[in-house]
Amino acid sequence: MIEDVSLRVSPKIASTPTLLKREAAARVGLNEREINDMRIVRRSIDARQRNVAVNVVARVASGDDLTITSKYKPMEFLHVPDEAPCIVIVGAGPAGLFAALKAIELGIRPVVLERGSDVDTRRVELARISKEGKVDPDSNYCFGEGGAGAYSDGKLFTRSKKRGNVDQILHLLHQHGASSDILIDAHPHIGSDKLPDVIKNIRETIIKCGGEIRFHEKVVDIILENGRATGVRTLSGECVMGAVILATGHSARDVYRFLNNNNVEMEAKGLAIGVRLEHPQRLIDELQYHSKDGRGEYLPPAEYSYVTQVDGRGVYSFCMCPGGVIVPAMSAPGQSVVNGMSASARGSRWANSGMVVELHPGDIPGFEKEGVLEMLALQESLEKRFFEESGGTLNAPAQRMTDFVNGRYSKDLPKSSYPAGIHSSRLDHLLPEEIARRLKLGFMAFDRKCHGFLSHDAVMVGLESRTSSPVRIPRDKDTLCHVVIEDLYPAGEGAGYAGGIVSAAIDGQRCVEAYHSKIKGN
Ligand SMILES: Cc1cc2nc3c(=O)[nH]c(=O)nc-3n(C[C@H](O)[C@H](O)[C@H](O)COP(=O)(O)OP(=O)(O)OC[C@H]3O[C@@H](n4cnc5c(N)ncnc54)[C@H](O)[C@@H]3O)c2cc1C
Repeated sequence: MIEDVSLRVSPKIASTPTLLKREAAARVGLNEREINDMRIVRRSIDARQRNVAVNVVARVASGDDLTITSKYKPMEFLHVPDEAPCIVIVGAGPAGLFAALKAIELGIRPVVLERGSDVDTRRVELARISKEGKVDPDSNYCFGEGGAGAYSDGKLFTRSKKRGNVDQILHLLHQHGASSDILIDAHPHIGSDKLPDVIKNIRETIIKCGGEIRFHEKVVDIILENGRATGVRTLSGECVMGAVILATGHSARDVYRFLNNNNVEMEAKGLAIGVRLEHPQRLIDELQYHSKDGRGEYLPPAEYSYVTQVDGRGVYSFCMCPGGVIVPAMSAPGQSVVNGMSASARGSRWANSGMVVELHPGDIPGFEKEGVLEMLALQESLEKRFFEESGGTLNAPAQRMTDFVNGRYSKDLPKSSYPAGIHSSRLDHLLPEEIARRLKLGFMAFDRKCHGFLSHDAVMVGLESRTSSPVRIPRDKDTLCHVVIEDLYPAGEGAGYAGGIVSAAIDGQRCVEAYHSKIKGN
């Protein structure tokens, strides 16, 4: 017999297989020797009460059932024939790579054009940003193989309600080398040390099956003929022909600009802007796990997630990285942009998250004249303001959280993980008033929820501005094609249809499925 049992156990039992098996056996009324096989199928931490518990769903096999097998079989990717239809995929982020895998599955030959470097070369380029302050506008934390999420925390949590689609992405990541933990944890993550190998394995699948991935191939225009996209033009002047999946992410400002210059219909979209907030991880552990001893031996570095409304706009934590570091995430010289990442072990002594304020077009006056590029112009202007305040270096403006709330300059700053360094500045003056005021009130509200969160030991580092796309490229809700241009499929985060690794991957897949339906005449 195979059955699922729900257990609520201590962190120690949850992390000790023999103890967990004993617990599961007792729950189904068996001796543990009568359990032939056991797998954890779901695991989540419940830290709402003083005694932190772990909820585990364990699948147990007993009696005639000797083993438990997964209902998911690894996807078999077959070689696509040379004469198969070709699709041009611009961008090798999650949307582009999963679009390419889906194309192979459906017998379409993907040609992926990526402006940045392969994921290994990228690692060297990223180190150069931190050490030398030099940002390559084509290969950085946002651009290059794996896209914006390649050197991230690799959080795979998504609010998508379509569990089947999410599970399928997680299984494909697992099939390409990610730990099986991502299949069971409520808040799965891969880590910046492991994700690049997964990306390389995906690349190998694509190439082995007859697809192509070309690096340092920047697309500079879409070829349009009679209202239809027939291919793209690259910086080297080459035309690559086929229907186009445009999966260029939220930071490809040149792409938005060439689309705008070609009068391709787009809409200004709301986004969120703020800072990265960094606490000592030990403090977050104490607060979240309600213990001055911190997380103890069996719990992982604690996470948090806060949201509140201030004057009609959301103020919320974003992309929290337990045991992580703040990274310089600008995509071109002359910008000051931060984000966060962590390794699989989440072992650093800091916890960081974006703390951002929701903004709608028109919220910050002075940018309306930019039309659909209004929010992009706002991002650019603030990133430049922060950069100039830093004397044209990547050393980032920072302020203690308590000084920010009290409107004071920080006389000194705590140590930060940010590799390019921080300096004391008045973030409450650098940020637009509409953002600074809401952030202050938001911090006070979060401290009421979790006393001690508003801390002198926490430091704010600016600017967090790449939370989502500043533009939406509208598409038909059934065909997923651009509303006006046939065979142009705006996909993923840059098109305004995803926010995060998993949702971007799902969206990339959906666009290829839509194209496949079209060519099959369904
Ligand atoms: C530091 C950091 C940490 C993050 N952490 C997480 C996390 O833990 N979990 C999570 O879910 N999300 C995270 N995100 C967000 C996540 O990375 C994005 O939501 C996701 O990558 C979007 O996928 P995408 O494929 O739509 O776009 P992207 O990943 O942005 O990929 C777009 C690709 O297109 C390429 N490109 C752009 N312009 C051109 C052009 N003209 N020609 C050719 N190629 C081009 C780019 O080089 C890039 O590789 C993080 C982002 C950053 C920057």
